[in-house]
Parts: sequence; structure tokens; C-alpha cells
Amino acid sequence: MNPAGEEGSPVPTTESKRDYYEVLGVDRTATRDQIKHAYRQLALQCHPDKNKDPGATAKFREMAEAYAVLSDDTKRKEYDTTGHAGVSERWSSEDLMRDFQFGDFFGARFGDLSGMFGDLFGRRMRPGAGSARGVDLRYDVELTLEEAAHGGEREIYLTRSEKCVDCDGSGAKAGTKPLACPDCRGTGQKQDVKMRKDVRLVTLTTCARCQGRGQIIESPCPLCQGGGYRFLPHTLKVKIPPGVDDGMVVRLPGQGEANANGGPPGDLLIRPHIRRHPTFERHGDDLYTVHSVTFPDAALGRKLCVAGLGGEALQVTIPPGTQSGATLRLKGKGMPRVGIKGKGDLFVVVEVRTPTDVSDRERALLLELAKLQSREDVRKSGSPVP
Ligand SMILES: [Zn+2]
Ligand SMILES: [Zn+2]
Repeated sequence: MNPAGEEGSPVPTTESKRDYYEVLGVDRTATRDQIKHAYRQLALQCHPDKNKDPGATAKFREMAEAYAVLSDDTKRKEYDTTGHAGVSERWSSEDLMRDFQFGDFFGARFGDLSGMFGDLFGRRMRPGAGSARGVDLRYDVELTLEEAAHGGEREIYLTRSEKCVDCDGSGAKAGTKPLACPDCRGTGQKQDVKMRKDVRLVTLTTCARCQGRGQIIESPCPLCQGGGYRFLPHTLKVKIPPGVDDGMVVRLPGQGEANANGGPPGDLLIRPHIRRHPTFERHGDDLYTVHSVTFPDAALGRKLCVAGLGGEALQVTIPPGTQSGATLRLKGKGMPRVGIKGKGDLFVVVEVRTPTDVSDRERALLLELAKLQSREDVRKSGSPVP
């Protein structure tokens, strides 16, 4: 599969997952203490009680989820071997919340956050429940405004779970097959029936022997240790369409995580973040830049040379009598429009510079101008000089 060959198209953001290590900003070899430290720092920064950014809650949840997994040796090991697919297959969000008290770090005031994590993992996929696809992965790419304007190919590095090639995802050693779990007869669940005052109480629990998979593997595949997946680093080439903006997502079909039940893999969602530019401000497809001119130029008008985003020289004419704050429009010199032909416009905002360090000659000329103008004002208003 070569993602470079697929044309990425911007789509609305959907539920997707980022690499847990990347979320916490730690190395894959980080110690428990390093992970804890990173989490604490981030949690204090974007706790929804303290940070009112609209994205803060989502960010906090993402981070808490990453911490719940990476701070627990068993879960971390599962993640390191199978990625998001294995973790969401084995633990529901309720499982994670039960095992881990997020409130610990914040004291009693932040104690009950569990409601916020209700749908942390979305619908839990039951083995054999015919879950459609693997987990969608999300990858954030930082771009300069110039890079966003040009688009083009970008190399990204990510670690994701993939179907093991040796056992074709079954987890069983070559020549063997997984067997239906004898404890639960392949259902993954155990029924406990109790009679209480003529009422039949049925409790369903996850089968302990097969951990809800419904299958057991007698001779595990040596390559994936029975998981059916491998969590491997990848280098992918991604096509960034010219004109991408914050809030857009470039979707690469089939480049996400492997599916737990043999279904198709999820998608990879590339989310661009455009860095602030020192001289250009972006509003949709239009660009704005400020250009300062002298007072005489603004008054008399003149031709100007302004640099475009690509550094190209653009001619603008300032009409006589231009006021500070006036905007001049350069059609088609803005950002490319994604998916359609054409470009936005470039607006040059004129800023009239007031002289600060005036020479004697300039001072004399300004005084003369001031005198002329006050006489002109009197003539217009018709009132005598006080
Ligand atoms: Zn294998
Ligand atoms: Zn079982």
C-alpha cells in the first residue's frame, strides 16, 4: 500500500486516536515517573476547570486516556504490542475508570470526572460482534503558511498496529488454528443464573479464560506472541493539498490501525496546524498584510511594491487621499482554495506613518502645512479665528 498514491481529501473531523506517547509528549522508553510527570504537567494546563478553551475538554480526555493506559504496566504492554486496537478490545472505558482514579492528582474538588470519560472509547467492540473497521488514527502536522499554500508531499512517522503477516492476524502459530474457548463455548461471555423469589437473575461476565475473545490459542505465533497484531513504526508519505487550513482533516483510507476481528483497518486522519506568520494573517482563503506609507504618499498617492506570500513582487497603487486603515485588494493573490480552482485575495492594509524624529527642515514644512490647513479649516467652517 502506498498512501502517496492516494489523493488526500479534507473531511470533517471524526473520532480518532493519536499515539499515546505522542499525546503525553514522552519517549517510547519513558519510565513510569517520566510518564506521570508529563501527565501531571499537561493535566494542570488543560484541566477543563481551569482552561476554558473550547478544545480543552477533548484534549484533557485524550491525555487522561493516554495516561490510564501508559501508567499501567499490563495496559502499556498491550498497547506496545497491539496498539489502540488491542487496548480497546480488552478494556472498556468503564474498565479503565475503575482501575484508575483520575481525581487523585487534583484532590477532592476534581474527584468525580468519570462522567466526562463516559464514551472515552466509543462503543466497545465485542469479539465477533462484526465491528466494521479498525481504529482511526490521528496525526497532527505543523505547517508554515507557505507550506500550507504550496501543499505537496510530507513524510510522517507513526507507530501503528498491523495484522501480523506470519499468522495472518489469527495469533496462532503457522500450521495451527485458534480453538473455540471451551469455558464459554466461543461466546466470550459467561452466564450466571440465579433464582431469587421466582425471579431469574442473569448476569453476563467476560470469560476469564479467553478474556472475552471467544478463542484460545494453544501455540501462539512467535512473531506476534499470539496477539495477531504487531505494533510497528512506519514512514508514510502524505499528500497535503494546497490551501489546507486548521480544522481540515486529510483522510488516508486504510492507513489506520488493524481491526481486531479481521475487518478492514481504520483510516489515518492528518490534521494540519498552521503556524502563525510574522507578516501575513489568514482569514479563510484571504490573506492580510499591513504596509506602512508616509503621510505625503498617502495624501498624494503612489505606486507601491508589496511582497506576496511566496516573496513575489506585487504592484499596488495607493490612490491620492488614502486614509490609515484603508485596504487595497489584490485579486487572486491569497491562499489556494482547497478542492476548487482559484485563490483567495490578498488585502494590503495601509498604515499611515506619523513622523517621529523630524529634522528642522521637515519641522518648518510641517508648520507651514499646519498653518495652511487651519486656514483651510476656517474657510470651510466659516467661523472667525479665535
Ligand atoms: Zn502472528
Ligand atoms: Zn472463553
